[in-house]
Amino acid sequence: MTGRRIVILGAGFGGLFTALELERRLGREARAAILLLDARNYHLFSPMLHEVTSGSVEPRHVVWPIRALRRRTPTTFERRQVRSIDLERRRVLTDRGEVGYDYLVIALGSTTNTFGVKGAEEKAFSFKTLTDAVRLRNHLLEMFEQADLEQDPERRRRLLRFVLVGAGCTGVELATELHDLARKTLGRHYPRLDAREVHIVLAEATGRIIPCVSDRLADLGLEKLRRKGIEVRLHAPAVGVSEGGVELADGQVLPTATVIWTAGVKANPILEALPVERDKLGRVVVNEYLELPPFPGVFVIGDAAHSWDPRLQAALPPTAQVAVQQARCVARNIARDLRGQGKEPFVYRHRGDLVSLGAGDGVGEIAGLAFSGLPAWLLWRLVFLAKLIGWKNRIRVALDWIIGSLFARDLAKLEW
Ligand SMILES: Cc1cc2nc3c(=O)[nH]c(=O)nc-3n(C[C@H](O)[C@H](O)[C@H](O)COP(=O)(O)OP(=O)(O)OC[C@H]3O[C@@H](n4cnc5c(N)ncnc54)[C@H](O)[C@@H]3O)c2cc1C
Repeated sequence: MTGRRIVILGAGFGGLFTALELERRLGREARAAILLLDARNYHLFSPMLHEVTSGSVEPRHVVWPIRALRRRTPTTFERRQVRSIDLERRRVLTDRGEVGYDYLVIALGSTTNTFGVKGAEEKAFSFKTLTDAVRLRNHLLEMFEQADLEQDPERRRRLLRFVLVGAGCTGVELATELHDLARKTLGRHYPRLDAREVHIVLAEATGRIIPCVSDRLADLGLEKLRRKGIEVRLHAPAVGVSEGGVELADGQVLPTATVIWTAGVKANPILEALPVERDKLGRVVVNEYLELPPFPGVFVIGDAAHSWDPRLQAALPPTAQVAVQQARCVARNIARDLRGQGKEPFVYRHRGDLVSLGAGDGVGEIAGLAFSGLPAWLLWRLVFLAKLIGWKNRIRVALDWIIGSLFARDLAKLEW
């Protein structure tokens, strides 16, 4: 091997696991240098973001400092904001100068997709980052505080109505977590408010919720949500968001001060400038090796990639599970290429999906077996605890959960 430079853009699920797998495969002997770049200096475990908003998990416990990465190979982390990528010159332009590469792994993730709905970008809460989760938490607590003082019933109803647009996994998990937060908090800590006054609405454009699970489990999930008192509106796309609330396609306006956008994602806008084929979500079309065909040695993975699955006859969905498997494949192929061996195509193996429906409830499928209720929820906790990066965070989250089951929720509104 010669001293080749592998540059990885993004230290989310795709980028971080590429670096970890390269370290494992190349070992100390490697003469390839790995450079990992990210605008943040931590990795975010997004599957637990809804628990940060509800206050059952502390914000710092779902992030992992990238500099804590083991250094068996010469891996370097640099906190840099990527501005653009020049594929012809094989250089990445960042806020702190240019970086050249021999191999490039683009794992820059995605941003919230508001599908051009009027007012959504400015008025709705997005739910992608740690800041989003804490900002939303502060806002919800503020709504409780204001409702506590509000005498006018109409205005009070508006303050306690929370509308989530999009009933995929994120929307459903967040809606049930908000329901638990209200149930455990109002009445007890806000004696003038009653949890039954809280009106949570999930507006979904299609005819079903949580597309990642089977029809039967999705129907069961829908029934469970409705039993909790969460209003689920199917075939109800949002067409506008304003100060007054959210407007649905049938013309109805739901008066609310809280619209949360959980309706989907689009690829990182940095990819827009690349001279390559993209799909309607802005994802870059990659070949079976997750490589950009006209640019050998350049790979795109995770939410940024349109990776066709011949078995599903569809592009793979934007999930952590897909990003991590793609990361391992790309790392393996870079290691093989460095040794002069041929590349192997990417084959996705779906391990299953679990959806938490609030304390003690859930639905999901693992290895073809369906789960619901308490077993699904316990499995959710077990699986995601195991997937968290680092023992320190696993212990901290497990303690958060234990403390949460013994004591009341912390309602401090932290000014970030
Ligand atoms: C609330 C929520 C819950 C989710 N729950 C699940 C779940 O239960 N199961 C599941 O499988 N998936 C889940 N997902 C989806 C999963 O998080 C994504 O599919 C996964 O993170 C994609 O990995 P990625 O590496 O492509 O992008 P990311 O993990 O988002 O990483 C992208 C990285 O790029 C960095 N970056 C972006 N732009 C720049 C720039 N210009 N310069 C430098 N760095 C940059 C970011 O800081 C980030 O670290 C969830 C997502 C959300 C938002």
